[in-house]
Amino acid sequence: MAIKKIAVGGISTECSTYSPLYQNESDFVSLQGQTLLDLVGFPFDDYGIETYPIFFNRSVPGGPIESQYFRQTKDKFIAELDSLGTLDGVLLIMHGAIFVDDIDDPEGEWIEAVRDVVGEDCIVSVSFDLHGQVTDKIVNNIDAFAAYRTAPHIDVEETYKRASKMLADALISNQRPTVLWSPIPMLVSGEMSSTFVEPCQSIYKNLESLDQRQGIIDSNLMVGYVWADTQRAAASAVVTCTNKKVGTEVCQIIANLYWDSRQQLKFDMRSGDISSAINSLPKNFSIIADSGDNPTAGGVGDRADVLEAVLSKKIEHVLFAGIASESAYNELQKGNKFNIGGSFGGGGPNLELNADEVYFEEQCAIARVQNITIVVSKRRRPFHYLSDFNHLRLKLQDYRLLVVKSGYLSPELQGLSCPSFMVLSNGAVNQDLKNIDNHHRKKPTFPFQEFNEFAPEVSDGSNLLS
Ligand SMILES: [Zn+2]
Repeated sequence: MAIKKIAVGGISTECSTYSPLYQNESDFVSLQGQTLLDLVGFPFDDYGIETYPIFFNRSVPGGPIESQYFRQTKDKFIAELDSLGTLDGVLLIMHGAIFVDDIDDPEGEWIEAVRDVVGEDCIVSVSFDLHGQVTDKIVNNIDAFAAYRTAPHIDVEETYKRASKMLADALISNQRPTVLWSPIPMLVSGEMSSTFVEPCQSIYKNLESLDQRQGIIDSNLMVGYVWADTQRAAASAVVTCTNKKVGTEVCQIIANLYWDSRQQLKFDMRSGDISSAINSLPKNFSIIADSGDNPTAGGVGDRADVLEAVLSKKIEHVLFAGIASESAYNELQKGNKFNIGGSFGGGGPNLELNADEVYFEEQCAIARVQNITIVVSKRRRPFHYLSDFNHLRLKLQDYRLLVVKSGYLSPELQGLSCPSFMVLSNGAVNQDLKNIDNHHRKKPTFPFQEFNEFAPEVSDGSNLLS
């Protein structure tokens, strides 16, 4: 059997159109060579498939990607792909929620350019985040599709493996799958569609049994990305299949299941405004998630609204991890006075503070102000792992309250099993969906408009099948 040859790579981020912070090269980390293959972690060798890693660029979610950077990166990817000669397959690792001011469908353009280079015979399999957008252009140019089935995402590696396995199987069996999709006119936040609570827990569980149907390879529900005010923003059902008739049915089943549960999509944590959070603080250790400014969803991560409220109520033994501010970090390098809040353009109050003590660790200034500890990070970053605190020599047991920039809590913070509260704060990823700007999303889209009529239409990217 002739050795098969595949390329691997892609680009991944989430872009809030409500963020003033444009992303460019300095925001992305590029994984290449063996590091990229290790990330994918699939034994292609065992299938007699040779892998050619190109690059996988990813960033902490933020604002739109600068047009020039996106185009350059795409062109570079395509040139490297072209230089590999004839390929039997391509594994693309994407997210699906990129926004570029002058490109309607950035992932669609990327994937279409890949198809143009590799030709019609090549099998293109893609992995997406379930918070990504799907379009006809994307579906029309791919042969297999797999998206995460958990949010918070704990099945990233597994998803890469599903996309890899479909690619390997197609190359070995010479059986080419088809991707079908059906847009669902709904958009909610990840916090309203956690797969760890109902109704999404059952819907995502259902995908596994739908996969068992004859003719179905991989079924997906895409929640989509709510903080991009674009035409293509919507949820969708996406199915990789070998039988279009069954694939069409399964797309409709998934779309109807999600549509029918729209009124049950709720936050999986106690939530409310900042003063309700503070007024209901328990005596024991608890966590507040400052959700409107959550950098892992595209928030800027620099706002000081909760800090201002905690200081004014004189609450002590509070740990803020963290607030991003390069200018405050630099001020603390020189002395104890610093200004914090909105320094990257995220808005909210700007506070002039005086640190009683300060030390530096891992590009963070850890400042003590009035018996509270503020982690001032030089760059935007989340604090989702317990090791993040250990690295900064912080012990959670020294505090009564931890304030993180987060929506739903990360699995490790969730694992602390303490009371938690999600503050519905202002910011680039505001959870108050009915009050965010909405000029470009298709109308009607739930919950921006209330309506009851929906019949799923299924397409293979170029033809409507139902
Ligand atoms: Zn996601």
